Amino acid sequence: MPEKPNPFEVAQRQLDMAAQILRLDPGVHALLREPMRELHVTIPVRMDDGTVRVFKGFRVQYNDARGPAKGGIRFHPEETIDTVRALAAWMTWKTAVVDIPLGGGKGGIICNPKEMSPGELERLSRGYIRQVARILGPDKDVPAPDVYTNPQIMAWMMDEFETINAAHLPGVITGKPLPLGGSAGRGDATARGGIYCMREAAKVLGMNVRGATMAIQGYGNAGSFAHKLAAEILGVKVVAVSDSKGGIFNPEGLDPAQVAAFKDETGSVVGFPGTRSITNEELLELDVDILVPAALEGVITEKNAGNIKARIVAELANGPTTPEADDILFRNGVYVIPDFLCNAGGVTVSYFEQVQNAYNFYWPLEEVHQRLDQKMTAAFHAVHEMAQKHKVNNRMGAYLVAVARVAEAVRLRGWA
Ligand code: GLU
Repeated sequence: MPEKPNPFEVAQRQLDMAAQILRLDPGVHALLREPMRELHVTIPVRMDDGTVRVFKGFRVQYNDARGPAKGGIRFHPEETIDTVRALAAWMTWKTAVVDIPLGGGKGGIICNPKEMSPGELERLSRGYIRQVARILGPDKDVPAPDVYTNPQIMAWMMDEFETINAAHLPGVITGKPLPLGGSAGRGDATARGGIYCMREAAKVLGMNVRGATMAIQGYGNAGSFAHKLAAEILGVKVVAVSDSKGGIFNPEGLDPAQVAAFKDETGSVVGFPGTRSITNEELLELDVDILVPAALEGVITEKNAGNIKARIVAELANGPTTPEADDILFRNGVYVIPDFLCNAGGVTVSYFEQVQNAYNFYWPLEEVHQRLDQKMTAAFHAVHEMAQKHKVNNRMGAYLVAVARVAEAVRLRGWA
């Protein structure tokens, strides 16, 4: 495996390019290059065998000029503070690009959830909240699910926070289960928002997506729902999917319900009947119309970008493409829907969840879908037009839209 670039350096380089085009005030630029606050915590957890293990965790509040910090918590064995910083920066641009009144943050714990029991995960989740509760709150910083965290973990975290504060405060966290103040439509929101973007991308490219082919890397929340919705909403044929153990390919198409059931049963998509096994690397280079990286950061690099054959790359993962790869894709005419636009559906419905929590009044699913579609479609076209106007790639288009909004809030507050 090639050495992965430091994601925070990538995030800073991307911002620097946007700052130059926007002729950003040097003080504002300097502020936007760094997280405003970060907390590093140590979490002791009683394991099932009676021993105590000590975990490291982080919460980064990158920028909250536009509203409370917002962003998920990841459980990952290779978590680093620089990854969390980069992801927190991208959350700042993400909430700005869809124009919701929130800032950006991210959390992470270095752990391997696949090797932990439900009881250990619960104690770890509660322990993390005890350490970071002092900087969280519906009006300060609002976490959500991310890589290897889910609604059950959000429920434990909310309960711990409410216990500490002796009050009902469901707006402290989003992505909760429905009976605890979750929103209808939050489960598939990240994928759905991305699918709406792909629909709009096809329109501007004059491309007929019905019957087009798609490959999806990653089969977590984003990837598995993208598989389902690609067929349902776009009429696209998904011919390849993968997870951390490898990929599967069938030129006739893969049924989403069957693949999901197979993964539930066996723990992986690999070995699904009637498919050829492929590697995650091979999946990225398949001859498909739409490629959806929906796993981790840094998978499309200068080494493989030139081999990508897809017309549209829809980034449901955060940070899947390095800046060098971006240049190659742009030169080759690949239409990239950049991560913090493409996967903004999750945080958009998180915002709807918070609004519903504040009113203690809940919307029907159709209303969530309609409002999400409005937000994503408006954001998509704002980015597309900005990129066209400045003759830059879509990622830079998205940066120009988002950074200008955050910079304005920073200036109006008199911070710089
Ligand atoms: N973790 C998701 C993301 O990266 C959702 C964040 C949220 O809902 O706050 O966008």
